[in-house]
Amino acid sequence: MKVLIVGAGTTGLTAACALSFQGIDCQIIERRSQPSQLSRAVGIFPSTIELLSSIGVPADLFSEAVPMRGLQYLRNGRRLLFLDFSSKEFQGKAGLFLPQNRTEAILAGVLRKRGVDVQYGLQLTNIVSQNAAAIVEYSNHDKETFDWVIGADGVHSLVRQKMKIRYPGQDLPEKWSIADVEVNGHMPPSLVTVNLQEPGNSLSIVLPLGQGHVRVVSSKEDALSALPQPLDIKKIYSQGSFQISVRQAETYCKNRVLLAGDAAHCHSPVGGKGMNLGIADAVAAASAIIRGEVEQYACERHKIAKQVIRKTEFARKVVTSNNLLMKCGLWILAKTIGVVPAVRRAYVRHLTEI
Ligand SMILES: Cc1cc2nc3c(=O)[nH]c(=O)nc-3n(C[C@H](O)[C@H](O)[C@H](O)COP(=O)(O)OP(=O)(O)OC[C@H]3O[C@@H](n4cnc5c(N)ncnc54)[C@H](O)[C@@H]3O)c2cc1C
Repeated sequence: MKVLIVGAGTTGLTAACALSFQGIDCQIIERRSQPSQLSRAVGIFPSTIELLSSIGVPADLFSEAVPMRGLQYLRNGRRLLFLDFSSKEFQGKAGLFLPQNRTEAILAGVLRKRGVDVQYGLQLTNIVSQNAAAIVEYSNHDKETFDWVIGADGVHSLVRQKMKIRYPGQDLPEKWSIADVEVNGHMPPSLVTVNLQEPGNSLSIVLPLGQGHVRVVSSKEDALSALPQPLDIKKIYSQGSFQISVRQAETYCKNRVLLAGDAAHCHSPVGGKGMNLGIADAVAAASAIIRGEVEQYACERHKIAKQVIRKTEFARKVVTSNNLLMKCGLWILAKTIGVVPAVRRAYVRHLTEI
Protein backbone atom coordinates (compact mmCIF):
# COMPACT_ATOMS: atom_id res chain seq x y z
CA MET A 1 0.00 0.00 0.00
CA LYS A 2 1.30 3.47 -0.95
CA VAL A 3 0.07 6.57 0.88
CA LEU A 4 0.77 10.26 0.23
CA ILE A 5 0.35 12.84 2.97
CA VAL A 6 -0.01 16.43 1.78
CA GLY A 7 1.21 18.99 4.32
CA ALA A 8 3.78 18.70 7.12
CA GLY A 9 1.91 20.54 9.88
CA THR A 10 1.15 18.65 13.09
CA THR A 11 -1.66 16.71 11.37
CA GLY A 12 0.38 15.51 8.38
CA LEU A 13 3.44 14.66 10.50
CA THR A 14 1.28 12.68 12.94
CA ALA A 15 -0.37 10.77 10.09
CA ALA A 16 3.10 9.86 8.77
CA CYS A 17 4.19 8.75 12.27
CA ALA A 18 1.04 6.60 12.64
CA LEU A 19 1.47 4.94 9.22
CA SER A 20 5.22 4.38 9.48
CA PHE A 21 4.73 2.92 12.99
CA GLN A 22 2.65 0.18 11.32
CA GLY A 23 5.24 -0.30 8.58
CA ILE A 24 3.12 1.36 5.86
CA ASP A 25 4.99 2.97 2.97
CA CYS A 26 4.18 6.68 3.15
CA GLN A 27 5.50 9.90 1.62
CA ILE A 28 4.95 13.36 3.03
CA ILE A 29 5.25 16.55 0.99
CA GLU A 30 5.33 20.16 2.16
CA ARG A 31 5.17 23.25 -0.04
CA ARG A 32 7.26 25.33 2.38
CA SER A 33 10.97 25.10 1.66
CA GLN A 34 11.74 24.39 5.33
CA PRO A 35 10.05 23.62 8.66
CA SER A 36 7.74 26.35 9.98
CA GLN A 37 9.09 28.67 12.69
CA LEU A 38 5.59 29.74 13.81
CA SER A 39 4.63 28.94 17.39
CA ARG A 40 0.82 28.95 16.69
CA ALA A 41 -0.74 26.22 18.88
CA VAL A 42 0.90 25.88 22.28
CA GLY A 43 -1.41 23.65 24.34
CA ILE A 44 -1.07 19.86 24.16
CA PHE A 45 -3.72 17.83 25.98
CA PRO A 46 -2.81 14.72 28.06
CA SER A 47 -4.99 12.63 25.71
CA THR A 48 -2.90 13.88 22.77
CA ILE A 49 0.32 12.81 24.52
CA GLU A 50 -1.23 9.35 25.10
CA LEU A 51 -2.31 9.11 21.47
CA LEU A 52 1.17 10.06 20.26
CA SER A 53 2.71 7.45 22.58
CA SER A 54 0.48 4.83 20.95
CA ILE A 55 2.16 5.53 17.58
CA GLY A 56 5.70 5.43 18.91
CA VAL A 57 6.17 9.09 19.85
CA PRO A 58 7.00 8.69 23.57
CA ALA A 59 6.00 11.29 26.14
CA ASP A 60 9.62 11.84 27.22
CA LEU A 61 10.33 13.50 23.86
CA PHE A 62 8.19 16.37 25.18
CA SER A 63 10.38 16.94 28.26
CA GLU A 64 11.16 20.52 27.14
CA ALA A 65 7.43 21.40 27.36
CA VAL A 66 6.11 23.44 30.29
CA PRO A 67 3.48 21.58 32.36
CA MET A 68 0.30 23.57 32.95
CA ARG A 69 0.21 24.13 36.73
CA GLY A 70 -2.95 26.18 37.09
CA LEU A 71 -5.69 28.20 35.47
CA GLN A 72 -7.19 31.38 36.84
CA TYR A 73 -10.23 33.29 35.63
CA LEU A 74 -10.39 37.02 36.31
CA ARG A 75 -13.22 39.49 35.89
CA ASN A 76 -11.90 43.01 35.35
CA GLY A 77 -8.56 41.88 36.79
CA ARG A 78 -10.06 40.37 39.99
CA ARG A 79 -9.77 36.62 40.53
CA LEU A 80 -13.04 34.69 40.22
CA LEU A 81 -11.79 31.14 40.04
CA PHE A 82 -8.50 29.29 40.43
CA LEU A 83 -7.90 25.71 39.36
CA ASP A 84 -4.71 24.26 40.83
CA PHE A 85 -3.58 21.51 38.48
CA SER A 86 -0.72 20.56 40.79
CA SER A 87 -3.26 19.55 43.48
CA LYS A 88 -4.05 15.86 44.11
CA GLU A 89 -7.43 16.31 42.43
CA PHE A 90 -5.92 16.96 38.98
CA GLN A 91 -2.41 15.51 39.04
CA GLY A 92 -1.44 14.31 35.59
CA LYS A 93 -4.68 15.65 34.09
CA ALA A 94 -3.44 19.04 32.90
CA GLY A 95 -1.73 19.69 29.62
CA LEU A 96 1.67 20.84 28.40
CA PHE A 97 2.77 24.03 26.69
CA LEU A 98 5.08 23.77 23.73
CA PRO A 99 5.20 26.02 20.67
CA GLN A 100 3.81 24.23 17.61
CA ASN A 101 7.08 24.45 15.67
CA ARG A 102 8.79 22.45 18.45
CA THR A 103 6.02 19.81 18.40
CA GLU A 104 6.47 19.57 14.62
CA ALA A 105 10.25 19.23 15.03
CA ILE A 106 9.76 16.35 17.50
CA LEU A 107 7.40 14.52 15.11
CA ALA A 108 9.71 15.10 12.13
CA GLY A 109 12.62 13.76 14.22
CA VAL A 110 10.72 10.53 14.94
CA LEU A 111 9.96 10.15 11.22
CA ARG A 112 13.57 10.77 10.23
CA LYS A 113 14.68 7.94 12.54
CA ARG A 114 12.23 5.66 10.71
CA GLY A 115 13.66 6.67 7.35
CA VAL A 116 10.75 8.96 6.35
CA ASP A 117 11.92 12.42 5.33
CA VAL A 118 9.54 15.31 4.69
CA GLN A 119 9.96 16.47 1.08
CA TYR A 120 10.11 20.23 1.58
CA GLY A 121 9.56 22.60 -1.33
CA LEU A 122 7.23 20.19 -3.11
CA GLN A 123 3.63 21.23 -3.63
CA LEU A 124 0.61 19.24 -4.74
CA THR A 125 -0.93 21.09 -7.69
CA ASN A 126 -3.67 18.68 -8.74
CA ILE A 127 -5.33 15.46 -7.70
CA VAL A 128 -7.69 13.17 -9.56
CA SER A 129 -9.15 10.29 -7.64
CA GLN A 130 -11.17 7.33 -8.81
CA ASN A 131 -12.33 4.33 -6.85
CA ALA A 132 -9.07 2.39 -7.02
CA ALA A 133 -6.35 5.05 -6.89
CA ALA A 134 -5.49 8.73 -6.71
CA ILE A 135 -3.22 10.42 -9.25
CA VAL A 136 -1.42 13.51 -8.01
CA GLU A 137 0.55 16.19 -9.81
CA TYR A 138 3.36 18.11 -8.16
CA SER A 139 4.80 21.58 -8.62
CA ASN A 140 7.82 19.97 -10.39
CA HIS A 141 5.31 18.59 -12.99
CA ASP A 142 5.85 14.95 -11.90
CA LYS A 143 2.79 12.71 -11.60
CA GLU A 144 2.41 9.80 -9.20
CA THR A 145 -0.28 7.27 -8.31
CA PHE A 146 -1.20 6.39 -4.73
CA ASP A 147 -3.60 3.99 -3.04
CA TRP A 148 -4.57 6.71 -0.58
CA VAL A 149 -3.96 10.44 -0.11
CA ILE A 150 -4.40 12.24 3.21
CA GLY A 151 -5.09 15.95 2.71
CA ALA A 152 -3.50 17.57 5.78
CA ASP A 153 -2.86 20.81 3.91
CA GLY A 154 -4.56 23.24 6.25
CA VAL A 155 -7.50 25.63 6.10
CA HIS A 156 -7.02 26.54 2.42
CA SER A 157 -6.57 22.87 1.42
CA LEU A 158 -6.03 22.44 -2.31
CA VAL A 159 -6.75 18.72 -1.90
CA ARG A 160 -10.21 19.62 -0.60
CA GLN A 161 -10.78 22.13 -3.41
CA LYS A 162 -9.62 19.81 -6.19
CA MET A 163 -11.82 17.03 -4.80
CA LYS A 164 -14.72 19.49 -4.89
CA ILE A 165 -15.52 18.98 -1.22
CA ARG A 166 -17.42 21.97 0.15
CA TYR A 167 -16.20 23.75 3.31
CA PRO A 168 -19.30 25.54 4.52
CA GLY A 169 -19.35 27.90 7.48
CA GLN A 170 -18.58 31.51 8.19
CA ASP A 171 -15.72 33.96 8.57
CA LEU A 172 -16.31 36.09 11.65
CA PRO A 173 -15.94 39.85 11.14
CA GLU A 174 -14.07 40.62 14.40
CA LYS A 175 -10.31 40.83 14.51
CA TRP A 176 -8.54 38.96 17.32
CA SER A 177 -4.90 39.52 18.20
CA ILE A 178 -1.89 37.59 19.41
CA ALA A 179 1.49 38.58 20.83
CA ASP A 180 4.51 36.52 21.88
CA VAL A 181 6.70 38.46 24.30
CA GLU A 182 9.45 38.14 26.89
CA VAL A 183 8.71 39.76 30.23
CA ASN A 184 10.97 41.22 32.89
CA GLY A 185 10.94 39.78 36.38
CA HIS A 186 8.90 36.99 37.82
CA MET A 187 5.81 35.48 36.17
CA PRO A 188 3.68 32.96 38.11
CA PRO A 189 5.03 29.63 36.82
CA SER A 190 2.85 27.91 34.24
CA LEU A 191 -0.29 29.73 35.26
CA VAL A 192 -2.83 30.44 32.53
CA THR A 193 -4.77 33.66 33.11
CA VAL A 194 -8.10 34.33 31.41
CA ASN A 195 -9.54 37.80 31.96
CA LEU A 196 -12.96 39.10 30.97
CA GLN A 197 -12.98 42.87 30.83
CA GLU A 198 -16.22 44.84 31.13
CA PRO A 199 -17.64 46.95 29.67
CA GLY A 200 -16.83 45.87 26.16
CA ASN A 201 -16.62 42.16 26.95
CA SER A 202 -13.10 41.65 25.77
CA LEU A 203 -11.35 38.39 26.47
CA SER A 204 -7.62 38.11 27.06
CA ILE A 205 -5.65 34.95 27.70
CA VAL A 206 -2.06 34.90 28.98
CA LEU A 207 -0.20 31.63 28.43
CA PRO A 208 3.25 30.96 29.90
CA LEU A 209 5.73 29.40 27.47
CA GLY A 210 8.64 29.08 29.93
CA GLN A 211 11.75 31.16 30.66
CA GLY A 212 9.89 34.46 30.80
CA HIS A 213 8.19 33.93 27.43
CA VAL A 214 4.48 34.65 27.36
CA ARG A 215 1.73 34.34 24.72
CA VAL A 216 -1.17 36.81 24.88
CA VAL A 217 -4.35 36.21 22.86
CA SER A 218 -7.22 38.69 22.87
CA SER A 219 -10.63 39.13 21.31
CA LYS A 220 -9.63 42.78 20.75
CA GLU A 221 -7.33 44.07 18.03
CA ASP A 222 -4.34 44.83 20.26
CA ALA A 223 -3.53 41.93 22.59
CA LEU A 224 -1.09 43.79 24.82
CA SER A 225 -3.33 46.78 25.52
CA ALA A 226 -6.33 44.51 26.24
CA LEU A 227 -4.77 43.21 29.48
CA PRO A 228 -6.19 44.42 32.83
CA GLN A 229 -2.63 45.16 34.03
CA PRO A 230 0.14 45.85 31.53
CA LEU A 231 2.97 43.34 31.31
CA ASP A 232 6.53 44.51 31.99
CA ILE A 233 7.77 43.67 28.50
CA LYS A 234 11.44 43.08 27.73
CA LYS A 235 11.07 42.05 24.10
CA ILE A 236 8.25 41.54 21.61
CA TYR A 237 8.93 38.47 19.44
CA SER A 238 5.83 38.71 17.29
CA GLN A 239 2.54 40.53 17.27
CA GLY A 240 -0.41 40.44 14.89
CA SER A 241 -4.11 40.07 14.37
CA PHE A 242 -6.21 37.30 12.90
CA GLN A 243 -9.79 36.57 11.94
CA ILE A 244 -11.66 33.47 12.97
CA SER A 245 -13.32 31.15 10.50
CA VAL A 246 -15.75 28.50 11.64
CA ARG A 247 -16.03 25.86 8.95
CA GLN A 248 -16.26 22.13 8.44
CA ALA A 249 -15.78 20.05 5.29
CA GLU A 250 -19.04 18.40 4.23
CA THR A 251 -17.26 15.03 4.05
CA TYR A 252 -13.85 13.81 5.25
CA CYS A 253 -13.53 11.09 2.62
CA LYS A 254 -14.11 11.00 -1.13
CA ASN A 255 -12.91 8.11 -3.29
CA ARG A 256 -9.26 7.56 -2.29
CA VAL A 257 -8.81 10.85 -0.44
CA LEU A 258 -9.18 11.57 3.27
CA LEU A 259 -9.15 15.01 4.88
CA ALA A 260 -7.71 15.66 8.34
CA GLY A 261 -6.89 18.60 10.63
CA ASP A 262 -7.59 22.16 9.53
CA ALA A 263 -8.27 20.90 5.99
CA ALA A 264 -11.37 19.30 7.51
CA HIS A 265 -12.38 21.86 10.17
CA CYS A 266 -11.50 25.21 11.70
CA HIS A 267 -12.85 27.23 14.62
CA SER A 268 -11.85 29.82 17.22
CA PRO A 269 -8.76 29.30 19.41
CA VAL A 270 -10.95 29.44 22.56
CA GLY A 271 -10.22 26.15 24.34
CA GLY A 272 -7.06 25.50 22.28
CA LYS A 273 -8.49 22.39 20.62
CA GLY A 274 -7.56 22.84 16.92
CA MET A 275 -4.16 21.17 16.83
CA ASN A 276 -5.21 18.45 19.27
CA LEU A 277 -8.24 17.63 17.13
CA GLY A 278 -6.05 17.44 14.00
CA ILE A 279 -3.59 15.08 15.69
CA ALA A 280 -6.47 12.79 16.72
CA ASP A 281 -7.85 12.91 13.13
CA ALA A 282 -4.43 11.92 11.81
CA VAL A 283 -4.13 8.83 14.03
CA ALA A 284 -7.70 7.84 13.14
CA ALA A 285 -7.13 8.38 9.39
CA ALA A 286 -4.01 6.18 9.40
CA SER A 287 -5.81 3.46 11.33
CA ALA A 288 -8.85 3.68 8.98
CA ILE A 289 -6.64 3.25 5.90
CA ILE A 290 -4.88 0.25 7.43
CA ARG A 291 -8.17 -1.39 8.52
CA GLY A 292 -10.10 -0.44 5.40
CA GLU A 293 -12.64 1.54 7.43
CA VAL A 294 -12.49 4.94 5.75
CA GLU A 295 -16.26 5.50 5.69
CA GLN A 296 -16.31 5.00 9.44
CA TYR A 297 -13.43 7.47 9.78
CA ALA A 298 -15.35 10.09 7.82
CA CYS A 299 -18.48 9.59 9.86
CA GLU A 300 -16.91 9.43 13.34
CA ARG A 301 -14.39 12.26 12.95
CA HIS A 302 -16.98 14.54 11.33
CA LYS A 303 -19.28 13.98 14.30
CA ILE A 304 -16.52 14.60 16.87
CA ALA A 305 -15.35 17.83 15.18
CA LYS A 306 -18.94 19.02 14.88
CA GLN A 307 -19.32 18.70 18.65
CA VAL A 308 -16.00 20.48 19.27
CA ILE A 309 -17.05 23.32 16.94
CA ARG A 310 -20.42 23.59 18.66
CA LYS A 311 -18.89 23.73 22.16
CA THR A 312 -16.08 26.07 21.13
CA GLU A 313 -18.51 28.44 19.44
CA PHE A 314 -20.79 28.36 22.47
CA ALA A 315 -17.85 29.25 24.76
CA ARG A 316 -16.69 32.03 22.40
CA LYS A 317 -20.16 33.53 22.22
CA VAL A 318 -20.71 33.38 25.99
CA VAL A 319 -17.41 35.03 26.91
CA THR A 320 -17.70 37.79 24.33
CA SER A 321 -21.44 38.35 24.74
CA ASN A 322 -23.14 41.51 26.02
CA ASN A 323 -26.15 39.50 27.11
CA LEU A 324 -26.69 39.98 30.85
CA LEU A 325 -28.35 36.61 31.29
CA MET A 326 -25.44 34.79 29.66
CA LYS A 327 -22.99 36.74 31.81
CA CYS A 328 -24.89 35.88 35.02
CA GLY A 329 -24.90 32.22 33.98
CA LEU A 330 -21.15 32.40 33.46
CA TRP A 331 -20.47 33.90 36.90
CA ILE A 332 -22.74 31.32 38.57
CA LEU A 333 -20.93 28.52 36.72
CA ALA A 334 -17.53 29.88 37.79
CA LYS A 335 -18.67 29.95 41.45
CA THR A 336 -20.11 26.42 41.18
CA ILE A 337 -16.88 25.07 39.64
CA GLY A 338 -15.00 26.65 42.56
CA VAL A 339 -17.05 24.97 45.28
CA VAL A 340 -18.42 21.68 43.87
CA PRO A 341 -15.62 19.12 43.26
CA ALA A 342 -17.66 16.95 40.85
CA VAL A 343 -18.49 19.97 38.66
CA ARG A 344 -14.86 21.09 38.86
CA ARG A 345 -13.58 17.70 37.69
CA ALA A 346 -16.14 17.56 34.86
CA TYR A 347 -15.14 21.05 33.77
CA VAL A 348 -11.41 20.19 33.73
CA ARG A 349 -12.19 17.03 31.73
CA HIS A 350 -14.13 19.19 29.28
CA LEU A 351 -11.17 21.60 29.03
CA THR A 352 -8.44 19.04 28.49
CA GLU A 353 -10.11 16.45 26.29
CA ILE A 354 -11.50 16.48 22.78
C1 LIG B 1 -2.63 32.20 16.06
C2 LIG B 1 -3.08 30.79 16.26
C3 LIG B 1 -3.06 30.22 17.52
C4 LIG B 1 -3.50 28.91 17.70
N1 LIG B 1 -3.47 28.37 18.95
C5 LIG B 1 -3.86 27.08 19.13
C6 LIG B 1 -3.76 26.43 20.41
O1 LIG B 1 -3.32 27.02 21.41
N2 LIG B 1 -4.13 25.13 20.51
C7 LIG B 1 -4.58 24.41 19.42
O2 LIG B 1 -4.87 23.21 19.55
N3 LIG B 1 -4.67 24.99 18.19
C8 LIG B 1 -4.32 26.30 18.02
N4 LIG B 1 -4.36 26.85 16.79
C9 LIG B 1 -4.82 26.05 15.65
C10 LIG B 1 -3.68 25.18 15.15
O3 LIG B 1 -2.55 25.96 14.85
C11 LIG B 1 -4.15 24.44 13.90
O4 LIG B 1 -5.35 23.77 14.21
C12 LIG B 1 -3.10 23.42 13.45
O5 LIG B 1 -1.96 24.08 12.99
C13 LIG B 1 -3.64 22.57 12.31
O6 LIG B 1 -2.61 21.77 11.84
P1 LIG B 1 -2.67 21.16 10.38
O7 LIG B 1 -1.44 20.33 10.27
O8 LIG B 1 -3.99 20.54 10.16
O9 LIG B 1 -2.60 22.42 9.40
P2 LIG B 1 -1.38 23.42 9.17
O10 LIG B 1 -0.61 23.62 10.42
O11 LIG B 1 -1.96 24.61 8.51
O12 LIG B 1 -0.44 22.65 8.15
C14 LIG B 1 -0.77 22.47 6.80
C15 LIG B 1 0.52 22.37 6.01
O13 LIG B 1 0.21 22.03 4.66
C16 LIG B 1 1.09 22.73 3.80
N5 LIG B 1 0.46 22.81 2.47
C17 LIG B 1 -0.64 23.55 2.12
N6 LIG B 1 -0.97 23.32 0.83
C18 LIG B 1 -0.07 22.44 0.34
C19 LIG B 1 0.13 21.82 -0.94
N7 LIG B 1 -0.71 22.07 -1.97
N8 LIG B 1 1.16 20.95 -1.11
C20 LIG B 1 2.01 20.69 -0.05
N9 LIG B 1 1.87 21.24 1.19
C21 LIG B 1 0.84 22.10 1.38
C22 LIG B 1 1.23 24.09 4.48
O14 LIG B 1 2.41 24.77 4.06
C23 LIG B 1 1.27 23.70 5.95
O15 LIG B 1 2.59 23.50 6.42
C24 LIG B 1 -3.95 28.17 16.59
C25 LIG B 1 -3.94 28.74 15.31
C26 LIG B 1 -3.52 30.04 15.14
C27 LIG B 1 -3.53 30.64 13.76
